[in-house]
Amino acid sequence: MFCDYVTIHSQEEMAPGIFRMVLDAPEVAREAKPGQFVNLYVNDPTKLLPRPISICEADAEKGLLTLIYAVVGKGTEAFAQYAPGTKLRLMGVLGNGFPLERAAQPEVKEIILVGGGLGIPPMLFLARKLHEMYPEKGIRMFNGFRSTPWIEEEFHPYGEVFNASDDGKSGFQGNVIDAMEYKLIFTDKDTKALLYTCGPIPMMKAIQKWQTGYNMETWFSLEERMGCGFGACAGCPAKLRMPDGSIKKEGVCKMGPVFPGEDVIFE
Ligand SMILES: Cc1cc2nc3c(=O)[nH]c(=O)nc-3n(C[C@H](O)[C@H](O)[C@H](O)COP(=O)(O)OP(=O)(O)OC[C@H]3O[C@@H](n4cnc5c(N)ncnc54)[C@H](O)[C@@H]3O)c2cc1C
Repeated sequence: MFCDYVTIHSQEEMAPGIFRMVLDAPEVAREAKPGQFVNLYVNDPTKLLPRPISICEADAEKGLLTLIYAVVGKGTEAFAQYAPGTKLRLMGVLGNGFPLERAAQPEVKEIILVGGGLGIPPMLFLARKLHEMYPEKGIRMFNGFRSTPWIEEEFHPYGEVFNASDDGKSGFQGNVIDAMEYKLIFTDKDTKALLYTCGPIPMMKAIQKWQTGYNMETWFSLEERMGCGFGACAGCPAKLRMPDGSIKKEGVCKMGPVFPGEDVIFE
């Protein structure tokens, strides 16, 4: 696994407190799969733990890796101060990623991507890859924002994009489930929808409850708080239903962050 210094190629503030950082990281960009993440270290020896950030895009040809992050605490505050040319330590790629091959099922006629807040960026890489692999399948993308959207255009080449926001500043006023109901997602015994999602736990919990009314397979990316990022510290357990019916706790970073939606037990 790659663990070394990479250089910031560019960085911009897309919206207040939300940054797009592009890194020169050819090895990582070549390997990356949608739904995977990297661990980024702050250039400050007093902050030992890395910060996990999902891969928003990976350009294998140019060797560039795009991350989008919100400033929430000391680590992300430090990232936001770094200018292009700054070197940062990065470990990755980490995590299992979304299972793209599930979209090959002939009965899957509709692919739905649902992103909530900072869970939206990894859906971009996923949308592009699914579009390249399954151009014949329709992709509908539902992105939920608190208010004004800070990303949208980038999704347009890959399918239909719907925004939902709490205050209705753009798109549908309501949550992503209201928007999906409004857009009438149809499934029957011969047609199945495949839904991939990443976002806040309450959103995924609601999707899990809502999906029972449909013939739908779901995959959830759990961006829980993490410590080490590779399974050594047991700091990010997820409660999961096993195939034999037993319940087990697994590290999100080691076994995930993507799990079958029906297996995740939200508390
Ligand atoms: C697999 C994975 C992928 C992620 N991808 C992204 C991404 O693409 N973009 C992005 O902006 N963030 C992402 N996160 C969250 C990001 O890692 C945290 O926001 C970051 O580590 C916070 O570091 P900090 O030092 O700035 O804040 P801290 O000082 O550590 O925390 C400040 C505040 O942020 C909250 N916080 C910290 N970590 C998380 C978390 N994982 N989820 C929710 N709240 C948190 C804390 O509870 C606290 O209130 C991801 C997390 C995981 C586990």
